[in-house]
Amino acid sequence: MMKVDLHTHTSVSDGRLSAAGLLAAAMDKRIDILSITDHDTIAAYRELEHLDTGAMQLIAGIEFSTQWRGVGIHIVGLGIDLQDPALLRGVEFQSRAREDRALKIARRLQKALAIEDPLPGVRRIAGDSAIGRPHFARHLLDIGVADNMETVFKKYLGRGKIGDVKDVWAELPRIIEWITGAGGIAVLAHPLKYQLTARRFSSLLDEFTDAGGAAMEVVSGQQKPEDTARLARLCNGRDLLASCGSDFHDPDHAWGGLGEASDLPADCAPVWESLPGFTATRHQDYS
Ligand code: AMP
Ligand code: MN
Ligand code: MN
Ligand code: MN
Repeated sequence: MMKVDLHTHTSVSDGRLSAAGLLAAAMDKRIDILSITDHDTIAAYRELEHLDTGAMQLIAGIEFSTQWRGVGIHIVGLGIDLQDPALLRGVEFQSRAREDRALKIARRLQKALAIEDPLPGVRRIAGDSAIGRPHFARHLLDIGVADNMETVFKKYLGRGKIGDVKDVWAELPRIIEWITGAGGIAVLAHPLKYQLTARRFSSLLDEFTDAGGAAMEVVSGQQKPEDTARLARLCNGRDLLASCGSDFHDPDHAWGGLGEASDLPADCAPVWESLPGFTATRHQDYS
């Protein structure tokens, strides 16, 4: 069985490992195909330009943020041309949006919690990383607003809470256009996380496929077998390609272990077989 992980994060977004560190960890785990999919940035690939990946195939990727009917949605792009001008403009747009959003989140939290401007502390925590809600969460923990990550998200940063700002992102069709225009495949990330009703999920898939989306994650992190079976049915029912990924962020987290969300149901069409440059014999090179 191939070991494939097409959804991972590094410290250029909210992951713990550097790009080189993630690459080394993935090779250590004998992953056959890896994609680094940081939130709205491809900066990790700049750090990897001169690194050897051995027999491991590295697929250029990204995880774009958008919103759909008021719900924050993530779209992974796989096999993208990292030099594509429209894609680069898109990444630039999202990076400015992320900066604007950080200001908005900061103002909202400051008001709602009656705290000092959190932004300087958040920037210190983020360092060179693109600011995300996990950096806000860590700052709120530092100043004692709550005592664990789960609570901070539940109360202040998670879905529908005061710090959940998402009106800044590019719209879904535009994001899919950036991905497909750069020769990539647009993948709906972790479909179960949005907690949509069957009817709304179906509308989302309508819009996603109408705009050129072609795949969805059937396996995301550690999930129940019945969820995998359900997602496989939805995926195959729409003739979508199937992807899998750990959504790895941090080696200390029990869930989302690197390379540990690999096996797709046999009746799914693996997305990597449709990526440019894929060769079926690749696995055998790895000994
Ligand atoms: P952002 O990209 O800034 O919108 O932040 C979203 C990120 O926050 C996700 O990719 C996760 O890494 C993290 N996240 C979301 N919910 C939680 C949670 N309940 N606990 C810990 N981290 C979370
Ligand atoms: Mn994240
Ligand atoms: Mn995501
Ligand atoms: Mn992710």
